[in-house]
Amino acid sequence: MCINCLQLGRRRFLSAAGIAGTGLLLGTRRADASPAATALSPVDALAALKAGNQKFVAAPLACEKDMARQRAEVAKSQSPWATILTCADSRVVPELVFGGTGLGELFVARNAGNMADTATLGTLEYGAEHLGSPLIVVLGHERCGAVAAAVEVVTKKARLPGSIGLMVDAIVPAVQAVLGKPGDLIDNAVRENSRRTAAKIASESAIIGELAGQGKVKIVYAHYDLDSGVVEFLT
Ligand SMILES: [Zn+2]
Repeated sequence: MCINCLQLGRRRFLSAAGIAGTGLLLGTRRADASPAATALSPVDALAALKAGNQKFVAAPLACEKDMARQRAEVAKSQSPWATILTCADSRVVPELVFGGTGLGELFVARNAGNMADTATLGTLEYGAEHLGSPLIVVLGHERCGAVAAAVEVVTKKARLPGSIGLMVDAIVPAVQAVLGKPGDLIDNAVRENSRRTAAKIASESAIIGELAGQGKVKIVYAHYDLDSGVVEFLT
């Protein structure tokens, strides 16, 4: 374990954020989730992610957790306490930007532009319904190449080859929705695209929509700043 972990362990950090550690451990468990599911509520999980990102911004050290021990602990089962849908971009690594989370903590789905296609929706449903993950975060990011490509398609009628073109086409409506608005077009489109993905998850997945309606799952979207490391939660 590194100095960063010793000084800013998860329990202490959650306490610093105003969350009682015992509350996290003793919270209500989803009745219909796996017996091993996390005890964290959607609100607790969101607070933990925010605290983890603060840790990443303040002291962005590569964590040296006891991975051998952790690997053994989760080898037979998993109970992730948050689900992250984000871009495939190599600079946006959920386990790092949320404060050095280890094995078995985050359930992660990634694709260019953080879109919710069928495979991704199924993945998110599995995380929520089967594994009991109480929070879904759609995490877009600054200077996203996939969104920038969609902007090129809209503004310059760019044509992209193969499956890349089809993939980027799905982002085009988000670009069109923010055309002419104040600010940077790509940044506006990134945020709009994340908002749309979050809305699509809630509306097109009956499983997640029902869990959200019952307060068992929360869906939020957020924006990652490549320069500062800050995750800005937008909902
Ligand atoms: Zn991206």
